[in-house]
Amino acid sequence: MSDLKEVKKGGISVETNHIFPIIKKWLYSEKDIFLREIVSNAADAVTKRKRLVSLGNAEEPTEPYRIDVTVDREAGTLTVSDNGIGMSAEELEKYLCSIALSGALDFIQKYENENDASSSGIIGHFGLGFYSAFMVSDRVKVESRSFDGSPAVQWDCNDAGEYELSAGDREGCGTDVIMYIAENEKEYLDINKIRTILNRYCAFMPVEIYLSDGSEEKNDNSDNDEKGKEAEPINDTTPLWLKNPSECTEEEYKDFYHKVFSDLHDPLFWIHLNVDYPLNFKGILYFPRIANEYESIEGQVKLYYNQVFVSDNIKEILPDYLLMLKGVLDCPELPLNVSRSYLQTNSYVRKLSAHIVKKVADKLNSMLSTDREEYQRVFEDIRTFIEYACLRDRKFYDKVKDSVMLHITDGSYMTVNEYLEAAKETNENKIYYTTDRALQSQYISMLEGEGIKVALMEHMIDTQYAAMCEELSDNGVKYLRVDAELADALKGDGEASENEKLRELFKKVSGNNELTVSFCPLKDEKVPALLSIPEESRRMEEMMRLYRIKTSGDGGESLMPTAMTLTLNTNAALTEKLSYLCDTDEKKAEKIASYVYKLSLLSQKKLSPEEMNAFMAESFELLGSL
Ligand code: ADP
Repeated sequence: MSDLKEVKKGGISVETNHIFPIIKKWLYSEKDIFLREIVSNAADAVTKRKRLVSLGNAEEPTEPYRIDVTVDREAGTLTVSDNGIGMSAEELEKYLCSIALSGALDFIQKYENENDASSSGIIGHFGLGFYSAFMVSDRVKVESRSFDGSPAVQWDCNDAGEYELSAGDREGCGTDVIMYIAENEKEYLDINKIRTILNRYCAFMPVEIYLSDGSEEKNDNSDNDEKGKEAEPINDTTPLWLKNPSECTEEEYKDFYHKVFSDLHDPLFWIHLNVDYPLNFKGILYFPRIANEYESIEGQVKLYYNQVFVSDNIKEILPDYLLMLKGVLDCPELPLNVSRSYLQTNSYVRKLSAHIVKKVADKLNSMLSTDREEYQRVFEDIRTFIEYACLRDRKFYDKVKDSVMLHITDGSYMTVNEYLEAAKETNENKIYYTTDRALQSQYISMLEGEGIKVALMEHMIDTQYAAMCEELSDNGVKYLRVDAELADALKGDGEASENEKLRELFKKVSGNNELTVSFCPLKDEKVPALLSIPEESRRMEEMMRLYRIKTSGDGGESLMPTAMTLTLNTNAALTEKLSYLCDTDEKKAEKIASYVYKLSLLSQKKLSPEEMNAFMAESFELLGSL
């Protein structure tokens, strides 16, 4: 053990004149992480000491383990102190005076000019963590005393990498890292800024972290018991995700969610991931109550490395649809600082992602089978998420498709298989849906009257999802909007007699040459006429409209497809009357036919303002003639 009777001078080995300016310049965008690096070094030092104590190689400290972060505005310093393992003079020289730069310098020089987000990845990756202190400091002093009994040591280094190593006077075992904040970085002497950074990066570190205002300590105006010191640690050293899921209560999950995501609402449900093998990671994913259109959904998945915050919403780790969830993931097998490109090509990351996707799918499937009531209760809230996820990821779709529910107009929920089973007699292999309950109510009630269930698909994503299900279906299941065709179940017995005059009359009043007029005896005698538009052409029209909105930005006026069929109900008294009037009072027949046609349009689509005005005028005229 060297007794440092004399001051030892040196320069950081490896071309420091290269590295220091680069550290300062390169990490500009994410400067705050210097504190994470220094505090996590402190936490590591405490963890190491704990381990030595538990192995019987070091004495149990009399004081509890802790890390103190002290801001001293007057002295211009930010200090991180720990009572961890400490460093001897040799260790200090070995660890802090030479940067392990086997390939780092080459790397830095190579990428120096690339303004890439991965730049922050270099710190830590090459053991530069400690040096990030120089991003904000022009001088860093380290006072340390090792657990092994060697004398205290002090190291003082300027931002040119020139240091002095001398005997120190720290009494207890542990380390102080005193950062002299540079003139243009004074914001790091603002305790609130430091608190924000600690809350972001260190909220779950395994050693208690106390923040205090060193300058207040000196003035006696402070009300705190221990002047300037906060009694509560800023972090939670045993975050919920580390606990065994069987030991966590519902209350704990909810509390954790409220605290971490500052969301006052309760989450719908959650998945506690606790995997040791073959991958090692832990975490909790929450399903928040989400808005119905997927554009507006914004989740937050926080990534940790051994309880140290790394980043929010790492797209490289989770598929985008899982980023709609909120949660925490702790992946100790990923390096603390990793570049995005590293993540993109890493096979561990791919396995991790696949595993999480599988867990989410398993959770949905198991909820359906074990807690259907609860699943149905939350389904409407997670539906957009599931549909979006299925649209984005075929594998996810394959896993969960049987658990996606249809919400029926009568309020019940059915899986697709249940629907098809129930539809065997009335509408085999056809799923009827509505996009607008109010507008399409006539069709819905006619179908319901025949015992046919109608599924609600009121958001664009619902129909997009249905179209995908249809495309991927093995047994030719068709999804039909209620007005897509005349369901067989609505047809009555007997053959309908064709009536050319009526056909011509309706073609004339509709002003639509493409209109097909057909005749059919419907079971429901009250409805004289029903319009239908083939599913395919309507979907095409919808797509074109969407495209038009996107490209031209206009309101996408409804382009009613011309391929429509008007079915005249030969069982309806009104049709019979019309047929009679055709021969006796053509004018009157025309008026009634026009009105009937408009009503059938009205129960199928929203009228344009012009159409609505014309319809109102016609109605008033009709009323006047009564
Ligand atoms: P890394 O943490 O990635 O190894 P750093 O540059 O941050 O790289 O730290 C280098 C080494 O210095 C650490 O591995 C550790 O041995 C030592 N060290 C840094 N801070 C402390 C501390 N607070 N207490 C004890 N040792 C420390």
